[in-house]
Amino acid sequence: MDWDEFSEWSKWIAEWGSQYHKTLRDRPVRAKTKPGEIYAQLPDSPPQMPEDMGKILGDFENIVMPGITHWQHPCFFAYFPANAAPPSMLAEQLVNMVAAQCMLWQTSPAATEVEGKMVDWMRQALGLADEFTGVIQDSASSATLSAVLTMREKATGYTGNRDGLAGKGSLRIYCSDQVHSSIDRACWVAGIGQNNLKKIPGIGPRFGMDTKELELVIRADIAEGHTPAGIIAITGGTGVGASDDLKAIAEIAKIHDLYTHLDAAWAGSAMICPEYRDSLWNGVNAYDSIVFNPHKWLGAQFDCSIQFLKDATPQLNTLKIEPEYLKTTGDAVTNYSEWTIPLGRRFRALKLWFLIRSYGLVGLQMRIRNHVLWAEELCSKIRLLEGFQITTDPILSLFSFRCPGDDMAQQRLVDAINDDGRIYLTQGAFADQKIIRVQVGQFDTTREDVMSVATVVSEVWEAIK
Ligand SMILES: *Cc1c(COP(=O)(O)O)cnc(C)c1O
Repeated sequence: MDWDEFSEWSKWIAEWGSQYHKTLRDRPVRAKTKPGEIYAQLPDSPPQMPEDMGKILGDFENIVMPGITHWQHPCFFAYFPANAAPPSMLAEQLVNMVAAQCMLWQTSPAATEVEGKMVDWMRQALGLADEFTGVIQDSASSATLSAVLTMREKATGYTGNRDGLAGKGSLRIYCSDQVHSSIDRACWVAGIGQNNLKKIPGIGPRFGMDTKELELVIRADIAEGHTPAGIIAITGGTGVGASDDLKAIAEIAKIHDLYTHLDAAWAGSAMICPEYRDSLWNGVNAYDSIVFNPHKWLGAQFDCSIQFLKDATPQLNTLKIEPEYLKTTGDAVTNYSEWTIPLGRRFRALKLWFLIRSYGLVGLQMRIRNHVLWAEELCSKIRLLEGFQITTDPILSLFSFRCPGDDMAQQRLVDAINDDGRIYLTQGAFADQKIIRVQVGQFDTTREDVMSVATVVSEVWEAIK
């Protein structure tokens, strides 16, 4: 392909993208594909001869698009959002075309320097103390794994990487029973082991970690010869939005000199609104590491996860490695690949720069505030449906409910709603019961879209009950 053809096809794709987004409401939110349906439409072997881009794009429309679930659909209320505001898509197109690999400062100084500035903009936007620096990673899972590895290394006097873990006894990490599965996996991969991840019950109206129990468990572990290594707190858990008492946990961590990581992957975006900080962010500045995903609620095209670090040194002592071919000469520069597990890095900061400048913090705050208000309004409508029960009240813009009947009835309703296609919801589990989750947070969703959830739920329920 020459660059004139590239230009033509790029224009075609830009037009396609605009049409796609303008007509999203006409499509079923969740793909109606049967397993294997797309696979069967692709040739069994690769082509020997070049094919025309027009034909390739035709197949994209005819074969691939019917198998896409539309995450940017305004009626996407499943999981958590993966918002991609249009300016962040444009930034990604530029990043895509420049195609720089930004592992070191010198492999693209602009990528490192824009990243440093964007992390600091977001630090201010989230009301974090001046001392935090940070790094942009691909996902919260990677940031949490980095933090757990740091906990391990700090607790072993930075000997784990060198000597392995044999003979070091069991390291213990603490969290609530409401954490995301990425915390379990980080503990598996870091060699901590599932049995050494101690899950403390979430209690009270926000299902936060029982801190009295936490203190007891830590003391018992020490008495039994285990080594406490760290605590992982959450603000806005995935199931029902569980949020820990950050201050109380940080105080316990301080007594036992434990490294602390806060998972605010979803709810972190809402902390750009100061009014939510009193209840959900109080004590946050005591944490060693904090992760939040601008690629969820905020609107930065996936993937973009910021890990803030109060002091980067422990994580650098854990992850930095400098073989000869990666050494660079010159002044003190930041090489972000030393902060993370992968070496290669995409230029992820550009989309944040475009996003924040295009909307201003005020534009982004307005969306979040609307989503929280609309979720509350929708929750009150679902509460009125006959026989329906609100199982967890809104925490920010997430709540859950049950229809009449057992767990199977809940799943039947979720499946029927998603087959209907007008909206997309997912199920969850809470207090040993199946629940139906609703999160309001898609970037383009309107009040009308949100209220349509009550209508669809009630119509589908009437049809299947
Ligand atoms: C989404 C989510 C994660 C995982 O995020 P990834 O970026 O997909 O790894 C972790 N914790 C919470 C609370 C989440 O909502």
